Amino acid sequence: MKRTFQYGVNNRVSPATIELLLRERNKGKTLRQLGQRFGKSHERIRQLLAKHDRSQGTLLAESTVAAKLGYPLEWLIKLRKDGIVNPMRQGGLWLYSEEQVSQIPSLIAEERKCQQCGKPRPPGFHKFCPECCQYRKKHYYERLSPEEKAEHNKKAIAWRKANPERWNEIQSREYRKRRASHRGNSQ
Ligand SMILES: [Zn+2]
Repeated sequence: MKRTFQYGVNNRVSPATIELLLRERNKGKTLRQLGQRFGKSHERIRQLLAKHDRSQGTLLAESTVAAKLGYPLEWLIKLRKDGIVNPMRQGGLWLYSEEQVSQIPSLIAEERKCQQCGKPRPPGFHKFCPECCQYRKKHYYERLSPEEKAEHNKKAIAWRKANPERWNEIQSREYRKRRASHRGNSQ
């Protein structure tokens, strides 16, 4: 009776152990290495992996996937929080199947599209790529509606009145710039 009971205890594997096992397996450990580490035969390890690794292939932790694909971790977190990818939750880790990992690049490309030109946005750019950001800053006024333009002009005139010295500085700087480029062109 006691023997059976003890055998049962030894044979039971806690979810935390399974999680650790999967993680170690994803790091590339062999069945034999895992067996030594967890004090089980490599056949028992194989059985446990077969039972718990539902992807058939390897499950990768979120940070591993990000590193492997070369994306910032936040990009994956955002996909997951937006419900675009649904990795498995196992003992404090988000685990991605090989199939999910293979889908991520196209999902990221879609998610990170520049809203103006469609090229991918690097980290830190929330709507537009760096080129479009610059262009939009430079051509800010052109994109305004007539009402917004009128409002903008009103503010600009008020600012010039309130800051006459700064306005003079800007004007003479622009004047020098234009003269310099004019001279450059005629040479
Ligand atoms: Zn762009």
